[in-house]
This record gives sequence, C-alpha cells and structure tokens, in this order.
Amino acid sequence: MDSCDVLIVGGGPAGSTLAWKLRSRGMDVIIQDKSVFPRDKVCAGWITPATTDLLHIDTDEYARERVLQPITGFRTGIIGGAGIVTRYERTVSYGIRRSEFDYYLLERAGARLRLGESVKTMERKNGDWIVNDAIKTSLLIGAGGHFCPVSEYLRGNRERSESVVAAQEVEFEMSGSQQRDCRVAGDTPELYFCEDLKGYGWCFRKRNFLNIGLGREDDHNVAEQMRSFFENLRDRERIPKDSPANFKGHAYRLYHGASQNFIADGVMLIGDAAGLAHSKSGAGIRTAVESALTAAEVILAAAGDYERKRLAPYPALLAERFGNGCEIFRILPEAVRRFMSRRLMENRWFARRVLLDRWFLNTHRPANSMSRRVL
Ligand SMILES: Cc1cc2nc3c(=O)[nH]c(=O)nc-3n(C[C@H](O)[C@H](O)[C@H](O)COP(=O)(O)OP(=O)(O)OC[C@H]3O[C@@H](n4cnc5c(N)ncnc54)[C@H](O)[C@@H]3O)c2cc1C
Repeated sequence: MDSCDVLIVGGGPAGSTLAWKLRSRGMDVIIQDKSVFPRDKVCAGWITPATTDLLHIDTDEYARERVLQPITGFRTGIIGGAGIVTRYERTVSYGIRRSEFDYYLLERAGARLRLGESVKTMERKNGDWIVNDAIKTSLLIGAGGHFCPVSEYLRGNRERSESVVAAQEVEFEMSGSQQRDCRVAGDTPELYFCEDLKGYGWCFRKRNFLNIGLGREDDHNVAEQMRSFFENLRDRERIPKDSPANFKGHAYRLYHGASQNFIADGVMLIGDAAGLAHSKSGAGIRTAVESALTAAEVILAAAGDYERKRLAPYPALLAERFGNGCEIFRILPEAVRRFMSRRLMENRWFARRVLLDRWFLNTHRPANSMSRRVL
C-alpha cells in the first residue's frame, strides 16, 4: 500500500495550490485525479490579477507558451440589449484556457501524481484514511469539485441554503474568417444579465479562442436560455455566424457562508468541493486558491495532528475572509428584481462601482489582504 502525509483528491486549482504550498514545506503529497492532464474543464477562464498574485505567477513567463488575454474593459447589460462599455486604465483581468492553466499549476506543484484514478472508496481505520484500498494517509483533502466524492462522504445531505449554478458553454478555436467576423474584442468581454438577475451570459474572446456561456442560480430552462442567448449574439453579429453550438454543461455551488461540515477528523474540503464560488459573479478559481492557501496555513499549524479540533480554525478563517454570505438580491421578490435590473444595468455608476469593481473584480479584497503567514 502507498502512503503519504496528505492525499489530495482533485488536481484543479484548489488541489494543486494546496499541494504547491505543502510541498514547499517538504510534506509528502499525492494528488489523485480521475482525469489525465492536460484536461479541459467547463469554465469561461476569467481570472483577476489578485489570483495570479496569490499564485505567484510570472505573467510574462506564463504567456510565452499559453493564452493569457489581458482585459481592460467590459461590455455589460441585459440579455438582448446593446449594453454599455466600462474602460479601465490598467489590466483588471485575464482570460486563460483551463486546459493550460490547470496543467501549469499541477506540474508546478511538485506532488506525486496519480492521474486517471477515480476515488471510489474511503474508510477510516486506526486514525488514518484508506482510499481505494491503495493509499494510506493521515490527512485527506476533498478538492474534487462539485461532484467530489470526499465532499459527498462528509456532507451527505447538504445545507438547505445552498444554491447551485447550472451552466452551459462552448469554447472553440476560431478560423481566420471567424476571427475577422467576431465583433467581441479580446480586451473587452461581454456580460449580459438575465432580467431576474439570477444569472448571466458571457461572451469572452481569448486571442483566437471564443468562449460563450450562460449560468443561472436555478436550472430552470438553462439549455433553452443558453440557446436563445447564443442566437441573440449571432443575430446581432457579435459572434461569427458559423459559431458551433455544441454546448457542454456543468454545475457548482455558490458560497453562502462557511460550514463546520468543511472539516472532520483527518479531512478537509477546499474549492468547489466546499461550494465556495463567489455568489454574485460565480467565479470560483480565486476562492479555490484562497481556500487552499487558508487550508495550508491550518495544516502546517496542526503539525501532524489532524483531529477535528485542530482543523477548526479553517471554517472560521474562511468566514473571516469571505463573509457570512448575506445576499440582498436573493431576498428581493422576483418582480422587484425584474423592475430594478434594467435600470441598474443601464446606470454607468452601478456598472462600474458595484457590478464590476465589487462583484466581478473584488477590488475591495486585494491579494495582499490574505494572511502572509504561509504565502
Ligand atoms: C460554465 C462555467 C464557467 C465558469 N467560469 C469561471 C470563470 O470564468 N472564472 C472563475 O473564477 N470561475 C469560473 N467557474 C467556476 C470554476 O470553474 C470553479 O469554481 C473552479 O474550477 C473550482 O476549482 P476546484 O479546483 O475546486 O475544482 P475543479 O476545477 O472542478 O477540479 C476538480 C478536479 O477533481 C477531479 N475529480 C472529480 N471527481 C473525482 C474523483 N471521484 N476522483 C478523483 N478526482 C476527481 C476532476 O477531474 C477535477 O480535475 C465557472 C464554472 C462553470 C461551470
């Protein structure tokens, strides 16, 4: 039987960030993932400079062999409308491709890799975890995304307050003529909201790749809404007429408060496995990274004793970092939301200060406000 200090289930941004930190402190870490990397992940692939800072990514070096699309503005509005453009004087975000980004982080982490191996069983024996009857560890990390088996095991019946985003998207490489026909600029992604403010569609150009998608907080007619959003972009000639419509779907949970269920004896959940995506933008890469860095801090302080009480600071630190998840828009009746949405989205001050700066760019939470103890 193989053994390690820490077994991380899932090699997405959460898992590889945690491995990277723990490996830098000399721990023996295995990452087990059901996929063989490089693998794709359904995602728009939008990250902020705070994320590259937290990950200590040299963006010039990264961009040499991979797509890194600088973003200096956004077009925002309601689905079907022309939208308004907000410009910034600096790069406020980047577009990446998940197949490249996740592979880069995984390779850099320096952990032992068991790829193409799905976690099927886990049992607690004499204070250790035994996974698939093949690996023994004193600390098991659930970083397997929305369908993480460790999360299933730990959380069973999930909290009622959880809301799940259902999303659909397509990403494709544009031909020369498609690149000429595409009116979406790489430096200005387009975000169009549903009138009930329960979701939005995006159109995101990353060099010669185009990503079009739509996510909603309920799964009511997502496929139909995606198709009609796509057709609207095509009819308005924002995207090439012959853009493929082979959408892929995925789901994930939004953060509405940290939970004691994120930990148990010898086990912790990070990233989407814990349901940490930002409740307004749906962005989950940064929160996956931040949860991994927070978990690393707690693990190192626990110094090999991973009983629940030693891991207890983890949900408390997440609550401190991400807040209690109170949502003003969620509690408003739908009619009020519909009445407000168009007026809000057409307001330039709201688009910049609230929608973009606060909800999407999180400028009120700079990377350097994260604990420096283990960074
Ligand atoms: C359509 C869509 C668009 C999105 N766009 C953005 C965006 O632009 N920006 C942003 O910040 N966030 C975005 N998100 C959210 C973001 O993709 C996730 O929050 C992020 O990937 C979470 O990272 P993670 O490491 O926790 O999980 P994941 O990236 O999901 O990684 C989990 C890993 O676990 C592995 N795994 C799963 N089950 C098992 C098993 N049984 N055994 C072994 N391994 C397993 C998987 O193969 C996978 O590699 C989007 C999500 C969707 C669905």
